[in-house]
Amino acid sequence: MRDIIIVGSGCAGNTAAIYTARANFQPFVAAGHEPGGQLSLTTLVENFPGFPEGINGPELVENIKKQAEKFGAEYRHGSVIEADLSRRPFRLNVEGEWLESRCVIIASGASARWLGLASEQKLIGHGVSSCATCDGFFYRGKKIMVIGGGDSAMEEAIFLTRFGSEVSVVHRRDEFRASKIMLERAHNNPKIKWITNAAVEEVLGGEDGLVKGVRLRSTKDGHTWEQEVEGFFVAIGHIPNTAVFKGQIELDDEGYIVSKGGARTSVQGVFHAGDVQDRVYRQAITAAGAGCMAAMEAERFLEAEGH
Ligand code: NAP
Repeated sequence: MRDIIIVGSGCAGNTAAIYTARANFQPFVAAGHEPGGQLSLTTLVENFPGFPEGINGPELVENIKKQAEKFGAEYRHGSVIEADLSRRPFRLNVEGEWLESRCVIIASGASARWLGLASEQKLIGHGVSSCATCDGFFYRGKKIMVIGGGDSAMEEAIFLTRFGSEVSVVHRRDEFRASKIMLERAHNNPKIKWITNAAVEEVLGGEDGLVKGVRLRSTKDGHTWEQEVEGFFVAIGHIPNTAVFKGQIELDDEGYIVSKGGARTSVQGVFHAGDVQDRVYRQAITAAGAGCMAAMEAERFLEAEGH
């Protein structure tokens, strides 16, 4: 029986692990299918306090993990595939092994959203990607397309100009959700081309099984055209990783955990931290702060129960 199981090893989960480990609860961390969370898929982080020169995302999150391990946190690779939060002790199935815990901190984050086209799904890993940092390197000197109009799309497009011969940003409207500063940076980059009021109808694969183009459709007049491209990056937002908790704790329409104040969920003894609940701020620093809050509430909960 564990005192605390933390689900997720991004900024939120790792920070919760530092705090609960330092409080001597020896937390168990189910690291998830994307260990390190979204920071592990990013490049330079310039807005995390304490790093005037910036720090690479993977390094930042790995450092937080090391800090937690130093105080006794135990990490295991793998995801929670089933959960029973209906009674205590809570039970979590981590890759086939059922573990029991007095309390749970859910910091499972959010995963990339896909367009949902059959052709897109078929070509994932063969030219279709949701992670510029992971896959940009493969498209050196090639034509790249980024789908989306938010900060993620701008960030990915700017990053991908390091590799591609040109990077087209395709957005379904002509107004952008991206922040002014990110949009400006992207606009000032001569390698970025803009295709607005356009939706992707199909990702086209070649005989070699790799992406060779896309068919786009105007969202204004419906006409379609094809465009040659080899790297197809989808950057249209995220979906909270809460599928295993559906029906057990209160989630909103989009699957984000509904907060009951502080880090509390609808189930006593189960706490939330980071992007799994936060659809507004979604920053490394706010996730870390949320991890700290969840840890402190978990500690108080356990102490009140005499542990
Ligand atoms: P987002 O702000 O929700 O933007 C998603 C974009 O994808 C929107 O432009 C949306 O179009 C488009 N989209 C959604 N579904 C689509 C579909 N099915 N087909 C085509 N387009 C679709 O998501 P995000 O860019 O991932 O950003 C999320 C949060 O993280 C934001 O708060 C952002 O500021 C933050 N963030 C910050 C940074 C940074 O500061 N460095 C970097 C990345 C993310 P519509 O606009 O038409 O809905």
